[in-house]
Amino acid sequence: MHNIDIELVEMTLDVMKYVINRITKTSPELGQPKKEEELKALVGETITSEGIGGEKAFQLFRDVLVKATVPIDHPRHLAFVPASPTRAAIMFDLVTSASSIHGAYWMEGAGGIFCENEAMHWLVSLTGMPKGSFGVFTSGGTAANLSAMVAARENWRQNPINIDKKGVIIASVGAHSSVKAMAKVMDAEILLVPSEERMDAEDLKALFQNLPVEKQSRVFAVVATAGTTNAGIIDDLDGIADFCIHHDFWFHVDGAYGGGALLADSVRHLFKGIEKADSITIDPHKWLFSPYDCGAILYKNPEIAKAAHSQEGSYLEIFKDEGAHGFNPSDYQIQLTRRLRGLPLWFSLAMHGVDKYKWAVECGITLANTAGKLIEKDEHVELVREPSLSCVLFRRKGWTPDDYRNWTYENHRKGFALVTPTKWKQGNEFETVARFCFINPDTTEKDISDILATMH
Ligand SMILES: *Cc1c(COP(=O)(O)O)cnc(C)c1O
Repeated sequence: MHNIDIELVEMTLDVMKYVINRITKTSPELGQPKKEEELKALVGETITSEGIGGEKAFQLFRDVLVKATVPIDHPRHLAFVPASPTRAAIMFDLVTSASSIHGAYWMEGAGGIFCENEAMHWLVSLTGMPKGSFGVFTSGGTAANLSAMVAARENWRQNPINIDKKGVIIASVGAHSSVKAMAKVMDAEILLVPSEERMDAEDLKALFQNLPVEKQSRVFAVVATAGTTNAGIIDDLDGIADFCIHHDFWFHVDGAYGGGALLADSVRHLFKGIEKADSITIDPHKWLFSPYDCGAILYKNPEIAKAAHSQEGSYLEIFKDEGAHGFNPSDYQIQLTRRLRGLPLWFSLAMHGVDKYKWAVECGITLANTAGKLIEKDEHVELVREPSLSCVLFRRKGWTPDDYRNWTYENHRKGFALVTPTKWKQGNEFETVARFCFINPDTTEKDISDILATMH
């Protein structure tokens, strides 16, 4: 047994050394994917009957495998929606694992759920939703959107005339792919307002009024986006809210990416109307500096979500028994056994304070505006539209889709940057354009101008 203890200590030191090293490096090496066969040839058999030992397994991960991943917190990783978890949040993610807390029910998770709930009260306060609104942390925006849409649909089916009907959700082309994918999972029909620009009440009205009466009668929810993933566009939340109130539709706001910007005084006015939402998705793992994975779903009336999601089972009764009174996160979203995903956010918020978060979010917005100015000054490129939140769409004059693709691969191959093209819809045409999305406050103006120089 003595030997095993020593191995355990060494493995722990290896892991802690790696972690400390990794989180103090502000510019980690930008890795590249490798083919599965190549990786297999490099590491050999890792799962054996005797075990290969912690030292060996960790060495393979550190020296080979992690190099075949792309660190999403690199300051010149401006593709997709990057991330930039705080050191405090990362360290507390380790603490969350080490503490082995089951996050489904208050009975077992009280102290941890208390922390999550403190962070959740703060999130709710950012939205301006009415008293009584509350929510839970989820695995991400996809699970949050699904949880909300199922709550909406089950609520609609409380009316017996809807019980056997297939419900209809209205969203826009700019809505995230997960909204469309989750409509499939829950077997709902989804209709999209055809423009990728800001959706307003008039767009909705036009789509709705052109539907056959039978289909109109099956609409139960509208999903607006507060910060489209592609372009950072915030729909006309106020107008859409009034449209939903008028028709008695559930109003869901998907702020998985953009929700963090509720903190930023410079753009807060763009979210006017979000306080009227029935549910809101915000991903702390996107713009609230939490490690993967952490989403959140907020409800105006959590009891509706509970009616839809609470699981029954003889093995579960004890959790809901007297003495275990408290908030049970599993009653409000699709997952039963759950990690306390909100804990890293809570710790980091408690440590740094809200002002630091405000500052970090404003950095992303400032970087997008800086990029906009650099693009306007550069004769080779032009803005496709004004920067919105922390997204910038721009074109390199004269480039074909292949040029953009080669440029992306070349910068990545050199280990310099990961910036990917996207498509922007105008009318019925999709144009390939370049896109920046800023999250990391360590990104500098020089990073941006150096990237633009690679397009000359
Ligand atoms: C990223 C994103 C999602 C999906 O969230 P995941 O955490 O990836 O599941 C949903 N909606 C929007 C607007 C997003 O940007």
